[in-house]
Amino acid sequence: MKKAEDERAPAFFIEGTRIAVRPLAPGLHVVATPIGNLGDVTLRALATLAAADLIACEDTRVTRVLLDRYGIATPLLPYHEHNAAEQRPKLMAALAEGKAVALASDAGTPLISDPGYRLVVETAAAGHAVVPLPGASALLAALVTAGLPTDTFLFAGFLPQKEVGRRKRLAELAAVPATLVFYESPNRLADALADMAAVLGDRPAAVARELTKAFETVRRGTLAGLAAQFASEPAPKGEIVVVVGPPLEKTVAPEDVDALLLSLLAARSVRESADEAAALTGLSRRDLYQRALALKDRR
Ligand code: SAM
Repeated sequence: MKKAEDERAPAFFIEGTRIAVRPLAPGLHVVATPIGNLGDVTLRALATLAAADLIACEDTRVTRVLLDRYGIATPLLPYHEHNAAEQRPKLMAALAEGKAVALASDAGTPLISDPGYRLVVETAAAGHAVVPLPGASALLAALVTAGLPTDTFLFAGFLPQKEVGRRKRLAELAAVPATLVFYESPNRLADALADMAAVLGDRPAAVARELTKAFETVRRGTLAGLAAQFASEPAPKGEIVVVVGPPLEKTVAPEDVDALLLSLLAARSVRESADEAAALTGLSRRDLYQRALALKDRR
C-alpha cells in the first residue's frame, strides 16, 4: 500500500500514535463503551469502531465525543427508541450486503436498559453474526463496589416511576434470594429507597453515583437509613445505581427451634425432622440434625 492510501486506511489514535486496524468480519458488533471515564474503552472496541462500515448509536453527538478522542471517522447512524422501527431495516439491509455494523449506546453496554434487543434478535434470525465486545456497564461497576454479596444477583433495570407500580414490582422481587441491582433517576431516589425499605425490609444497601467520573460516590447503609438520608437532602445530581442485599435471614428463637424439632420428632426420624425444620426455617440442616439428636436422646 502506498503511504497516502495507508494513511486513509481505518485506524485509531492514542496520544498521537496511529494504530492501523484490520478489516472487520461482517455482522453486528455490539460494542460496550465507557460509563463516564473515556479511558475505560477497550482496545478491541476502538479497533471495531474504527474498522466498522457504520456505527449505529443512540445520540451521535455523544458517540462523536468518544470517536473524536481516538481520531475515529466512521459514519454514524442514529438508532434510539424513537426511530428504531424505521432505522432497523436500513441496518438489516447493510448486514445483508455483508457490511460490518457496530452498535453502541451513549454509555455502557448496549441492550442493558438501552436499545438493541430487537436488532440483535433480527440479526441472529437473519443468520448474520452477532459479535459481543464486553466492557463497561454501570450494573457491574456498582455491584463490585457495593460491598454486598456478588455470588448471585438479579439486575432489575429501572423500576416503574409511580409508587403503585413500583411497590408491585418490588413485591415480585422480595423473595428472590439474590442481591438486587436497580438503575434509578436522582429525582426518584428517595421515594424509591423508601418503597424498597417498606416492601423488601430494611436490608443492607448501597447507592452508587457517578461511577468512574470525577464525583463518584458510594453510600452504604440500610434501605431505611439511606431513604431517610436522601429524603433530608436535595436530590443528588448525576447517574445512580441502587444495590440491595439479599433477603434478611429469618431469625428463630432457640426455644422455638426446639419446639419445632420435638413436634417433628414425634412422627419422623432425626434426619427427616432436621430436613423438614431446615426447609421451614432456613437454618443449617447440620445444626438442626445435631440439635434433633440431642433432643431425641433426652426424650
Ligand atoms: N447501558 C448502560 C449500562 O450498561 O450500564 C445503562 C444505560 S441506562 C439508559 C442509564 C442508567 O445507567 C443511568 O440512569 C444510571 O442508573 C446507570 N448509569 C449509567 N452510567 C452510570 C454511572 N457512571 N454511574 C452510576 N450509574 C450509571
